[in-house]
Amino acid sequence: MTETTTLQGCLTKMAVEPGSPARYTLRAGEARLDLNARLGQSLRLTWTGAIACTHCGRATRKSFGQGHCYPCFKTLAQCDTCIMKPELCHFFQGTCREPDWGERHCFQPHVVYLANASGLKVGITRATQVPTRWLDQGAVQALPILEVDSRQQSGFVEVLFKEQVSDRTNWRAMLKGEAEALDLAAERDRLLDALAGGLANLRERFGDDAIRLLDAPPRAFEYPVLEHPRKVVSHNFDKSPEVAGTLLGIKGQYLILDSGVINLRKFTGYEVAVEA
Ligand SMILES: [Zn+2]
Repeated sequence: MTETTTLQGCLTKMAVEPGSPARYTLRAGEARLDLNARLGQSLRLTWTGAIACTHCGRATRKSFGQGHCYPCFKTLAQCDTCIMKPELCHFFQGTCREPDWGERHCFQPHVVYLANASGLKVGITRATQVPTRWLDQGAVQALPILEVDSRQQSGFVEVLFKEQVSDRTNWRAMLKGEAEALDLAAERDRLLDALAGGLANLRERFGDDAIRLLDAPPRAFEYPVLEHPRKVVSHNFDKSPEVAGTLLGIKGQYLILDSGVINLRKFTGYEVAVEA
């Protein structure tokens, strides 16, 4: 047994590094806890009742958009609907909430990828977020397929791919470890063929070299999971401030306990005491 540790602070998303298996670090304020080392041991998280905005630090009674106070949620570009739906980018109408932030984050190379967390899906991410993005989703396989110049362009490409493939993860199936291995390169070839007309239209609109084929190898990811849950029951600090059990695994941004699962990302900004 590892020695008992107690730490306290406001949650931010777990840090994760790829590996066999991936390595997870719980982050609560300045405190850090190596979660892989706690597999098979008891873990208790208790919400103190406080939530601090991850952006400005002010206390908020409720969390908006994964850890923001209401004023930040209504004014930050990163909380705008165009982040989830980049095809709705309104930068060129001059109405971006924070044009400087937009230039730094949205006018950067973005990758369109195929991933398998609970079956085939399409997704987009900033090139610098690879492979963290895939680990955060609990993907067991991923393949970058296209690169574009901006977040908005990646949104248009994703909308096109959604004619053929989902952009969602079924998180229950992901946690149950039910995803069957896929041949992502074959799926890519099939989709590029089926969507050739739509891609040609986008290239006509944004320039011939705006949507570039990537020739990257498929990636596979392993997670530190002793046992997948057969039935998925969720913990929720808002309903019950104490979450305790034996840590059976970590996948995506979820802790898998013998008493249920918890999506820690959803509780970003929540101040918790952690006993491990
Ligand atoms: Zn705030």
